Amino acid sequence: MYLVLLGPPGAGKGTQAKRLQMALSIPQISTGDLFRHHLKNATELGQLAQGYMDRGELVPDEVTIGMVRDRLGQPDCANGAIFDGFPRNINQARALDTLLAEMDKGIQIVPSIYVPRDVLIERLLKRAQIEGRADDNEETIRTRMQVYEEQTKPLLDFYSAIGLVVEIDGNQFVDEVQRDLVAAVTAAS
Ligand code: AMP
Repeated sequence: MYLVLLGPPGAGKGTQAKRLQMALSIPQISTGDLFRHHLKNATELGQLAQGYMDRGELVPDEVTIGMVRDRLGQPDCANGAIFDGFPRNINQARALDTLLAEMDKGIQIVPSIYVPRDVLIERLLKRAQIEGRADDNEETIRTRMQVYEEQTKPLLDFYSAIGLVVEIDGNQFVDEVQRDLVAAVTAAS
């Protein structure tokens, strides 16, 4: 089972991906987490990504896609993966299709977690206080929302056109969102 979790920043993709990882026993591939890991370890890739992340912009596709290709090649991804924060634009979505096709695989479902915009901003500002994420300040949040609207949201049409999107109400308690997600994923498998 390969699935792509879609939703704006603050929709709860990371939380839900981690829970789904446990429920389905397939790994979460979070490009944001992978980049943060590189940043922390001051790798060349981390240094390259830092400016983009600080500004809330997308890291260039060739870098991101190369990182995902490496991750997907690892043995734990042979039977499935939960993509969280990837793809973020149409070019990345096409690249993901190609990568999976090379493995004779394909995406089975694209749960889209929707949350009203004012709730999102409130959540992101709260997360900034709790987790201290450098990119959760007001200006970066604004950029990330704009990048989402312009580049990532078109993925909804891209995946809807091939019948993969299932809408999930993200404005509920975490357990309720998880229940709906697991039900949708089970129905698709
Ligand atoms: P996230 O944790 O998914 O919100 O990602 C944090 C930051 O990492 C983003 O604002 C981007 O700068 C970068 N990033 C994460 N995933 C991607 C991606 N798929 N493509 C480009 N940049 C990404």
